[in-house]
Amino acid sequence: MISIRARTVAIIGAGPSGLVAAKYLRAEKAFDEVVIFEQRASSGGIWNYTPHHTNEDLFHIPQTNPRGLNQEPAWIHKANGCNGENKAVSFLSPIYERLETNIPRGLMGFQDLDWPPECQLFPEHGVVLDYIKDYGKEFQSLIRYETQVVNVEPADESPVGSWRVKTRDLRSNKTHQHVYDAVIVANGHFIVPNIPNIADIQEWNNRYPDTISHSKYFRTPEVYAQKKVVVPLIWSSKSTSMLKPAPDPKKKEVPPISRFIPETRSVQFEDGTVETDVDAIVFATGYFYSLPFLQDVRPELITDGSHVLHTYRHLFYSPRPTLSFLALNQRVIPFPICEAQSAVLGRVYSGRLSLPAYSDMNEWEKSTVAEMGNGKNFHLLPFPKDGIYINELSKWASEATLREGLDNGGKGKTGPVWGEWEFWCRENFPAIRAAFGAQGNIRHSIKSLEELGFDYKEIVKRGGSGESKLI
Ligand SMILES: Cc1cc2nc3c(=O)[nH]c(=O)nc-3n(C[C@H](O)[C@H](O)[C@H](O)COP(=O)(O)OP(=O)(O)OC[C@H]3O[C@@H](n4cnc5c(N)ncnc54)[C@H](O)[C@@H]3O)c2cc1C
Repeated sequence: MISIRARTVAIIGAGPSGLVAAKYLRAEKAFDEVVIFEQRASSGGIWNYTPHHTNEDLFHIPQTNPRGLNQEPAWIHKANGCNGENKAVSFLSPIYERLETNIPRGLMGFQDLDWPPECQLFPEHGVVLDYIKDYGKEFQSLIRYETQVVNVEPADESPVGSWRVKTRDLRSNKTHQHVYDAVIVANGHFIVPNIPNIADIQEWNNRYPDTISHSKYFRTPEVYAQKKVVVPLIWSSKSTSMLKPAPDPKKKEVPPISRFIPETRSVQFEDGTVETDVDAIVFATGYFYSLPFLQDVRPELITDGSHVLHTYRHLFYSPRPTLSFLALNQRVIPFPICEAQSAVLGRVYSGRLSLPAYSDMNEWEKSTVAEMGNGKNFHLLPFPKDGIYINELSKWASEATLREGLDNGGKGKTGPVWGEWEFWCRENFPAIRAAFGAQGNIRHSIKSLEELGFDYKEIVKRGGSGESKLI
């Protein structure tokens, strides 16, 4: 068993995950210092919509380097700037103009914060940003904005030792170093786009610059009006109906692109068919996990960018578990996942909960690789695995030693537990989302599942289950 007692903790990122971590750490009442480093000028992570597409230093054609880099910010003019402070740091977000959540608010949100009663069932992105900021307002004094973490490395030899964190003040460009007992990485994983190296893609790009893009840079559909657009997608046979394009005579499903043919402005697909006069190609081919500030840490965490190596339960860096990660998982409901993870992190770092031996943590990784493979599926937790994972972590957290002075009779802040409603809602949310979208503009007035005909109580009364519970 491994015990850790951290006094100082650094969190990287003030998105939803970083803020959740701060909440659970504070609830432990055990730390001398908790600091959050955030490279953006405000909290909320990628929910800080960036309306204007600026070229960023991560965009290359092709873009196959998973390691990423400590990005240079863009500087945007602030409307009411004064005293030389009329510019703010900005990093591109993948959020697009008309994005509404794909998860109903009751399932998506934080345990102890209600959504504004007037907001629609699948909130617009601006509402989500306000909601996250509201959640994080009590931690503003902990956050160092416009501060990028550029390097993290062990500060001593101990396997549960502390970390030297190097930061860069993006305004002054000055660097600073501090040592923390534990570091929680909550940097998100929608930063480094994956644009595959398909035959002749570079020649195409040289000939038709600005015609190849990635979904990270998509803002509005108007840009593509009246154009012939090819959208390469990562597709799985388990992709939900919500993501499948609705039948439309203007849309055609084709196999993956095998090569670009710049001479005729065409692309060839794997079945040999050719599409000519293509105006634009948008790669919706996902992102690499990237941890540029951890590139000196061994054993290394990123190799091909498909997942983060050497994690225990997707959470602790098992060779040196004073380093940990939040929300690495995909196909999940991120906010409750982070809460369950943070309930464990807070207790482990305050010394109330132990980790298993290093060999057991390695064994967990090995068995997960055996089940999910050593690639992009490693962090996937498709339903019902996500709900089971949340409940397992919250249960693990509940086994921590009681400590006088903590809430809930010494138990501390409890992690979320999914019951029947959550599992039902999670299982059915693609159908619920599709029904919501089908309402057209009326959807803006829909605030509850019941209004869409998904009445859980009624379904239970009728004794249905799963898909058959739908009425
Ligand atoms: C298009 C799209 C739609 C989505 N829709 C939904 C949805 O409907 N519902 C839902 O629940 N989730 C959705 N998500 C998932 C979304 O990622 C999560 O909601 C949430 O943003 C994850 O929070 P996070 O804090 O882990 O990461 P992020 O939101 O990415 O925040 C990470 C923060 O870390 C900061 N950071 C990164 N590197 C550094 C560094 N070196 N130094 C300092 N700071 C750093 C970043 O600036 C950022 O603020 C969507 C994602 C995408 C891309």
